Amino acid sequence: MTSKSIVPDLKKNEVWFLTGSQGLYGEETLAQVASQSQEIAKTLGAASDIPVTIVWKPVLTDSEAIKRLFLEANANDTVVGVIAWMHTFSPAKMWIRGLDALQKPLLHLHTQANVELPWSSIDMDFMNLNQAAHGDREFGYIQARMNLAHKIVVGHVTNPAVTAQVGTWTRAASGWAAIRSLKLARFGDNMRYVAVTEGDKTEAEIRFGLSVNTWGVNELVDAVDAVSDADVDALVAEYEELYDVVPELRLGADRHESLRDGARIELGLRSFLEAGNFGAFTTSFEDLGGLKQLPGLAVQRLMADGYGFGAEGDWKTAVLVRAAKVMGAGLPGGASLMEDYTYDLQPGNELILGAHMLEICPTLTTSKPKLEVHALGIGGKDDPVRLVFDTDAGDAVVVAMSDMRDRFRLVANAVEVVPLPHPLPKLPVARAVWKPAPDFATSASAWLTAGAAHHTVMSTALGVDAFRDFADIAQTELLVIDEGTTLREFTKEVHWNQAYYRLAGGL
Ligand code: MN
Repeated sequence: MTSKSIVPDLKKNEVWFLTGSQGLYGEETLAQVASQSQEIAKTLGAASDIPVTIVWKPVLTDSEAIKRLFLEANANDTVVGVIAWMHTFSPAKMWIRGLDALQKPLLHLHTQANVELPWSSIDMDFMNLNQAAHGDREFGYIQARMNLAHKIVVGHVTNPAVTAQVGTWTRAASGWAAIRSLKLARFGDNMRYVAVTEGDKTEAEIRFGLSVNTWGVNELVDAVDAVSDADVDALVAEYEELYDVVPELRLGADRHESLRDGARIELGLRSFLEAGNFGAFTTSFEDLGGLKQLPGLAVQRLMADGYGFGAEGDWKTAVLVRAAKVMGAGLPGGASLMEDYTYDLQPGNELILGAHMLEICPTLTTSKPKLEVHALGIGGKDDPVRLVFDTDAGDAVVVAMSDMRDRFRLVANAVEVVPLPHPLPKLPVARAVWKPAPDFATSASAWLTAGAAHHTVMSTALGVDAFRDFADIAQTELLVIDEGTTLREFTKEVHWNQAYYRLAGGL
């Protein structure tokens, strides 16, 4: 197998569990605080819906120690975030210098050691020890006062709703860590005259930490030309094993050379991306240089291995695909570039048919894709090979990123992918058919009001919540269209956000 996944093992990511207290409780109480907070951290660490490693840290009781720990968290690349809990009362001015220095995502866990109160035995010692109810309010104040981005989760750690929220946030924090260090390679520029796929790449590096740069497509062609015939043979054999290869592409058949060309493109593209340590890329059908085909199969398989991808130079969607790949690591379902293509407009049962020219990721299906070759009326190259399949039915989310000039805007729509209502025997591309929430007219009106793009990432592994946490961590605008959306409120939110994000951005 030549596949080399770059989806990270999230267990290698650490989230540090910090407990706040203060010295005046005395050693005996602080020892109890330590052992109880270790229990909480252990319960979180053992929860099946929390994919990262939770690392307990000794109880914090003074300003210097807090600041030192946050600086350590900043400097440690394996740390994707910190969880803080004030088991006892921890005067919050002690936290100011540390919080001011913190550059990692922060989750405030508002919990306590016990579930039930020991009504018959409760005394002032118990009250003295178990006071997160007011200790965490002091901590909430300082975070609000300092206007810090942070996630709040409330409840006992044995409550599955609590670990689910913590788990989703750790996924978002892992996605953020991956985006902070993402290198994205563009082959060619944006499709000519297109507006929404443009964007400020310098601002993207300032806001998200990712680097977006362009390479001439003929550098990719050199990498493709350098691929050995033996490697092509091996990859073609792998295709035969993994996919339902149409007879005309098989060894000895008249179009087999097209499959070999496709394999060569995949191997060249993969070696270019690996050599440059890239986690995402874009192509442009208007700029294919010496490539024989528009990369279809190659792009589909690289996406399946965790690479972000955007077509027509759309690097913003490539970033979202990469983020979704990391956030969804290990979950059933997948993530792909998607494009709103065409509609079935029967009133009350409207459907969106999404696809692309070629590049839909096969992680969206559990079926065996067909590997086919067909003419492509765009790009003026040889007929490209591609995987064809139907996306699995189920809940999904589509997310788009627009550059609104003074900020990036994310728009997410909760959708339900439905089984194909009719076969599509003449459509030679992978596709998905879905119903958007809350209904087609509201969804499309809201989407258009927001200026959201026709390219999205579709994730069948994640819900809206993961992207909400991601946007909060990134301090980036997110407009959500879901069951609770009304057009009237949504339009107000768009207007209010115009003012808010300009004020929050400062002068
Ligand atoms: Mn497109």
